Amino acid sequence: MTQSFHLDTLAVRGGIERSQFGEHSEAMYLTSSFVFQSAAQAAARFSYQEPGNVYSRFTNPTVTTFEKRLAALEGAEECIATASGMSAILSTVMGLLKAGDHIVCSASVFGSTVQLFGTVMKRFGIETSFVTGTAIAQWQAAISPNTKILFVETPSNPLTEVFDISALADLAHGAGALLVVDNCFCSPVLQRPLDMGADIVIHSATKYLDGQGRVLGGAVLGKKSVIHDGVYSFLRIAGPTLSAFNAWVITKGMETLGIRMAAQSAAALELATWLEAQPGIERVYYPGLPSHPQHALAMRQQKLGGAIVAFDVKGGKESAWRVVDNTRLISITANLGDTKSTITHPASTTHGRISPQARQAAGIGDGLLRVAVGLENLQDLKEDLARGL
Ligand SMILES: *Cc1c(COP(=O)(O)O)cnc(C)c1O
Repeated sequence: MTQSFHLDTLAVRGGIERSQFGEHSEAMYLTSSFVFQSAAQAAARFSYQEPGNVYSRFTNPTVTTFEKRLAALEGAEECIATASGMSAILSTVMGLLKAGDHIVCSASVFGSTVQLFGTVMKRFGIETSFVTGTAIAQWQAAISPNTKILFVETPSNPLTEVFDISALADLAHGAGALLVVDNCFCSPVLQRPLDMGADIVIHSATKYLDGQGRVLGGAVLGKKSVIHDGVYSFLRIAGPTLSAFNAWVITKGMETLGIRMAAQSAAALELATWLEAQPGIERVYYPGLPSHPQHALAMRQQKLGGAIVAFDVKGGKESAWRVVDNTRLISITANLGDTKSTITHPASTTHGRISPQARQAAGIGDGLLRVAVGLENLQDLKEDLARGL
């Protein structure tokens, strides 16, 4: 589909290739392999001389539809779908790096990403330096001659720190490295990192792209040279592939991505504003609030503030747990990106295994709660939180 269509149109119609049956909705191709018309055609497909499907570990039309649709939304030349967000990050590193290479990564990234870089990749001779904070000077100081990737999530989880994507891209390119942005929290509806100079965008499609908490999926996007020769070559051999079923579910979920992100962001802003006025609350973290330290940068980079709100409850862990335990509507679960609102106490769950000192350094206090705002009525959500506050 041509690039001249707007994002909301591409979200509904991007990547469709109809079969001979003329189906209106996207077809789901549940098949492990594809049949060739002759020995010569089989040989041509295997040697890449003829484009076409071969085997669903590396080509499937339903997965291709998802890849084309997401590529159109992110403005990317190429997209590779993966089985989960973590396998997207794994495939990027395995496809592009080798022993002796170095990663500079934000300390405020998804917990499993920290484990993957700091523990698993370390066993294969890839070292990672974790940077605390958003200051470019800190990132600059962590770069060494063998640095190949700068990795960031913005806004970060759970404190919603906002990182300057174009400044980090300039820094990476000056050092001969690639900037990788995990765009899970914003989705392309709110933020397009490739437009700001990032080289690679990562998605956990499990979150807002599906949007209804049904399946796992992921994606890696960027220039053809980087994505095809590096990431796809690894995926084709190693097989952390997205299933056709999950690809279909996520593709259909993406049709409502725009209206969900807009509605959930608007609700999050209203909830954050309300929380700021509650006497039991110490501080609210939300990029859409003027009180956010990087509000101006966030509003330059993002269309809206997103749907994640964090806040410190006065009285520490006891008070925070009281809020959690008094909810009747909001789900107590670490997932996010769902139409159902969720609440977590990071210090005892997602960030429970890091030392209290490291948690303190990261600004994750015992009174901190994170709410991922869904599509329920806002008054119901406020009442659900007010009960424990
Ligand atoms: C959930 C998440 C991931 C990992 O995605 P999975 O689909 O669970 O593997 C990566 N990054 C961010 C920001 C996430 O929220």
